[in-house]
Formats: sequence, C-alpha cells, structure tokens
Amino acid sequence: MGLTIPERYGGADAGYVAYALAVEELARVDAGTAVTLSVHLMVAGAILRLGSDEQRNRYLPQLAGGDTIAGFALTEPDAGSDAAAIRSTAKRAPDGGFALRGRKQWCTNGGYAGVTLAMFRTGVPGAKGISAFLVDNALPGIVVEKTTEKLGIHTSNTVDLAFDDVAVPAGAVLGAEGTGLSNALSALTTGRIGIAAQATGILAACLDASVKFAKEREAFGKPIAAFEGVSFKLAQMATDLEAARLLTWRAASRCDRGEPFAVEASQAKLFASTAARKHAAEAVQIHGGYGYTTEFPVERYYRDAKITEIYEGTSEIQQLIIARALLGRIE
Ligand SMILES: Cc1cc2nc3c(=O)[nH]c(=O)nc-3n(C[C@H](O)[C@H](O)[C@H](O)COP(=O)(O)OP(=O)(O)OC[C@H]3O[C@@H](n4cnc5c(N)ncnc54)[C@H](O)[C@@H]3O)c2cc1C
Repeated sequence: MGLTIPERYGGADAGYVAYALAVEELARVDAGTAVTLSVHLMVAGAILRLGSDEQRNRYLPQLAGGDTIAGFALTEPDAGSDAAAIRSTAKRAPDGGFALRGRKQWCTNGGYAGVTLAMFRTGVPGAKGISAFLVDNALPGIVVEKTTEKLGIHTSNTVDLAFDDVAVPAGAVLGAEGTGLSNALSALTTGRIGIAAQATGILAACLDASVKFAKEREAFGKPIAAFEGVSFKLAQMATDLEAARLLTWRAASRCDRGEPFAVEASQAKLFASTAARKHAAEAVQIHGGYGYTTEFPVERYYRDAKITEIYEGTSEIQQLIIARALLGRIE
C-alpha cells in the first residue's frame, strides 16, 4: 500500500512504473482489488505533492502501512465530467475552520477509508471557487448513505457519502484555497496511469484464459486454436495488450522522470480501456457458451472491463484532453 510513498514515510519509493506493474498484476487476478490500491495511492501522491509537512507526517505513514485506506470524493449527483459544477460547500466557521456540507457520489474505498480527499466549494461558482480538503472519515456528520451495486468490480467498495456540517480545521485544506479543482485533476492524471494498468491487467487475464481454452477446446476434430477465426483474435489481443502496456509504461516513466505526462496518461487510459472492453467481449466469444457462464472467469473480465472506460475521466474526456493538446482550446 506504500509503493509510491517515499521511504522516510514508511513506503517503498518504487515509483510509477512499479505502480503500473503492481496494479496490472493485481488486475490480472482481480480488477476490484487493483482499483482499491490505485485510488489509495492516487490520494497518497496528492498529499505528497501538495500537502503541508504536518499533513504529510500525519497521513503518509498510516497510508504506507495500509493501516489507513484513502478515498477520493469529487463526483456529485449532478456533477461528473463537468467537475467544476460541484455544489457541496465549505463555509468558514467562526474558529477559522470550515463546515462541510453536501453529497459525494460513488466514492471508491469510501465505506472503509480513514481519510478522503474531497472537493468543496469555498468561493465563487466555477473552477476557481473549489478547494480540496483532507477529511477524516470518522468525523461526526459524515454518513455512508448508500453502497452502490455495480455491473462489475464487485470487490471494490463504492459508496455515496453525505456531509452534514462536518467541522474541519483550517489545516484540512490541501494546497491553497481555490486550487481544489486543479489539485483534483492533477491527482486524476496519476490515477489514469493506474486505470490504464488496471485495464491492461484485465486484458492480460483475457489473453491467458483465451489461449488456454482455445488449445483445450475441440470442435470439428481439432482444437479451436487451429481455426484462424480464433487464432487471429488471439493475435490481435496479444498485440493490443503489448501496446496498452507500453503506453502505460511510457506515461509512468515520464511521471517518474518528472516530465509532463498528462497527455500520455490520457492516451494510455483511452487505448488500454478500449482494448480491454473489446477483447473481454472476444474472450467470452472464444469461450462460446462456457464464456457466458460463471464457471469461467471471462464473464467477470467482460463486466469488469467496462468501468475502465468510465471512471477517472470517460473515454470522451480523455479524447478531449488529447485533442486540446493537439489543437489548443477551440471554443
Ligand atoms: C464504480 C465507480 C467508481 C467511481 N469512483 C469514484 C471516486 O472514487 N471518486 C469520484 O469522485 N468519482 C468516482 N466515480 C465517478 C466517475 O469518475 C464518473 O462517473 C465519471 O467521471 C463520469 O461522470 P458522470 O457519471 O457524471 O457522467 P457524465 O459526466 O454525466 O457523462 C455522461 C456521458 O456524457 C459524456 N460527456 C460528458 N461531457 C462531455 C464532453 N464535454 N464531450 C463529450 N462527451 C461528454 C461522457 O463521456 C459520458 O459518456 C466513480 C464512478 C463509478 C461508476
């Protein structure tokens, strides 16, 4: 749980390439567990980059040891891709702290997180009026309102959190007041390396299962792998897996070297998630009727793959980021 956290805080300081490798391997077995780690380290990374000494010393050792799990709360019922539209508010209290009020939707790890990086409106409407807060989940006024049932990633906890005048001190603000949206978006940029790695892991699992099944299953007197209609699917799956992996590693290694990596992370997430969704469907197809049953794991990969095209920025939002880098902002 402390893979990318520096050793001085009890972490492994292994960097983002190691993070991508670990998330891929976890996702190869269980994509829900992979995103649990990915979100946890996304928040740890934000505390490391933007936190005060006090915030780092307080949270990073607990997060590195896995004693505390971190969650992330930006999305609201009426604000997802358009994150600048959030309505939850942080009002100044007479003691200099803030009272947090509102509802956050689909918070990964939210049911058991000890600390949540949550965005609230402290000022004017729009992007500039948002601040990021590190909120202890045990504070009075925070209620887990609903655990969401999902198509896939069943081992990942997804909850709605209600904040009912939650009192936090002024020291709970992460980074400068009013920079919360850009802080959240910079956290999501590293998070996208994690989701690209998660999609790559699902894709790797699809290939493992499909190669095995295609060599064992016989039809018309031959293993189905002998038919080009099957083996060419495997060839394309293997090629897209390598491309997804290399794009993910490229974004991760640029991040490790301190080079800009936002566009590369979006490209990795866009490609890997599209490939995972497409090839998970092919993996079910290769398995025939067995693929549709819960006796084989590919139906789970098929259900798990879809979310990688949605969270931490949908595929359309990744295309928006990539297109803006190419063309500039066209209004
Ligand atoms: C299982 C799960 C876990 C999640 N975990 C977290 C979490 O831990 N923390 C958190 O804050 N959020 C989390 N989310 C929320 C997730 O990040 C959002 O669902 C996602 O960003 C999309 O927002 P939305 O659902 O409101 O869709 P909308 O923004 O309403 O989008 C609907 C559709 O419109 C498209 N669209 C929107 N704007 C544009 C545009 N400008 N151009 C083209 N197309 C556009 C979208 O791509 C999408 O296809 C989670 C969601 C799920 C399902």
